[in-house]
Amino acid sequence: MSPRRIGRRFATLVAGAATVLSLGLANPAPAAAEVVNATVCYNTSQAGPYAGIADQAASIWNAYTNNLNMSKCGSNLMIYYTTGGGSYAVRRSLGNGYVVIDTAQAQQYAPLRIMTHEIGHILGLPDNYNGQCHLLMSGGSAGTGCTNPYPYSTEAAQVDRYFGGFGAEGAQVFRDSWPALATIG
Ligand SMILES: [Zn+2]
Repeated sequence: MSPRRIGRRFATLVAGAATVLSLGLANPAPAAAEVVNATVCYNTSQAGPYAGIADQAASIWNAYTNNLNMSKCGSNLMIYYTTGGGSYAVRRSLGNGYVVIDTAQAQQYAPLRIMTHEIGHILGLPDNYNGQCHLLMSGGSAGTGCTNPYPYSTEAAQVDRYFGGFGAEGAQVFRDSWPALATIG
């Protein structure tokens, strides 16, 4: 599905919700109409050694959500890698953009946690650098010893709300610190 198509679907949902609000209780809409079951087509052709890790991350997100389906059906979400400069995510709109994995960071931090975190940005989530390892979006603040690659229930629920058509986040760039360890010697 193209980014434009997803955008149109959300636009329709938002317009529909506004109509319902303006009509008040006179015309309640069925709740089932609000579910999108949005597909995010990701592409690992440029992911190099991180292609398999991207597949694992997509499987995790699929397992932890109901309204999201990540599949290798196109290139709404490209996965790239580089060396140095930090991992980051560029979200053009909900479910659309690209992720860049820094190989240097991936040698210090668990690569799968980095991948699921960065994809989390594409899925609408912001950073939450509070050092808590049970959160995925705490990222590098939880330290190199934190290898948890799974979204916490509140994080997964937020993604489900976005892909259910509620409060979709717009374009944003997330440059992640995943702080480098001090060089020894
Ligand atoms: Zn981040």
